[in-house]
Amino acid sequence: MKTVIIGGSHAALSAAAELRKLSAEAEIVIVSSDAELPYQRPPLSKAYMSGKSSFEQILLRPEDWYAANRITLIRGVFADRIDRAHKTVHLADGEALSYDRLLIAAGARPRRLPEEIGGHLPNVHVMRDLGDAHALMEQMKDGARLVVIGGGYIGLEAASEASKKGATVTVIEAADRILKRVACAETAGDVRTLHQAHGVRIFENAALKQIVEDGGRATGVELSDGSVIAADFIVTGIGVTPDVALADQAGLTIANGVVVDRELRSSDPEIFAIGDCASFPMATTISGSNRCRTPTTWA
Ligand SMILES: Cc1cc2nc3c(=O)[nH]c(=O)nc-3n(C[C@H](O)[C@H](O)[C@H](O)COP(=O)(O)OP(=O)(O)OC[C@H]3O[C@@H](n4cnc5c(N)ncnc54)[C@H](O)[C@@H]3O)c2cc1C
Repeated sequence: MKTVIIGGSHAALSAAAELRKLSAEAEIVIVSSDAELPYQRPPLSKAYMSGKSSFEQILLRPEDWYAANRITLIRGVFADRIDRAHKTVHLADGEALSYDRLLIAAGARPRRLPEEIGGHLPNVHVMRDLGDAHALMEQMKDGARLVVIGGGYIGLEAASEASKKGATVTVIEAADRILKRVACAETAGDVRTLHQAHGVRIFENAALKQIVEDGGRATGVELSDGSVIAADFIVTGIGVTPDVALADQAGLTIANGVVVDRELRSSDPEIFAIGDCASFPMATTISGSNRCRTPTTWA
């Protein structure tokens, strides 16, 4: 039995490890668009960004784990197309991989501000991968001015790291309070107080009008009330969307993610999906929806 896994992060690695435990003979191939060895994302905005953890310390598995477990890791290559009729995945480098079972673990993509309001400018950052972390770390310096758009976990973690490094930080949140989607008002209140104690300014109920641009770079943000906050760089932490591009092109059922059943099976019985790209059936969720992201087992 040959399983091809698309995506090289938490979900892909956990699934590969479990598959190996279940079968010593299974052929397991991981296709990852990342050039690096698979790493954990959560420390990127925490211990890695603060310099407390090295890249080796945040790897999901050590380099020799793949050979020891007979797991083929193809790095730095996109899976471009799924040919369901021939049970084949076509890669961007021209290679074609046949499969008996396919597991899509393509994750999520950060939402970006539209280009019309300056979301494309080079010093307007998102925080999703190692490259994003490095770009931010370079700019988090004493005296630098950072505006964070979005008072969720990612934005607040970036604010925290930047303020520790001496940057002047302002957080803009459109809702009436930070962490509205993910935490209760009391927790949000404690987090707000802690950030403010460290000098972070937090503006809630603050609607962004546009990024202010000068010479092809962002120099600040303008709010809908006309006020402008100067910035040397900007981080947007405004959520993610499930990466369903490949599944959609293959004709699988999509509803805020690749729709899977309780066995993680998609609308094609030979194709499964897991992690941030998948939409899993639940009785109820906090948001009231009856589907959620599939749980990712952490290394
Ligand atoms: C900075 C940061 C901090 C976080 N902190 C926390 C935290 O504290 N607690 C928590 O619970 N969660 C946290 N998260 C969220 C957590 O990291 C994600 O839920 C988790 O990474 C999801 O894993 P995944 O494998 O489903 O997807 P992803 O991690 O998104 O990985 C998917 C991978 O698939 C690759 N890929 C996509 N399409 C293709 C293709 N066609 N071909 C080949 N490869 C492809 C992508 O490049 C990516 O590397 C954090 C996320 C970030 C970015």
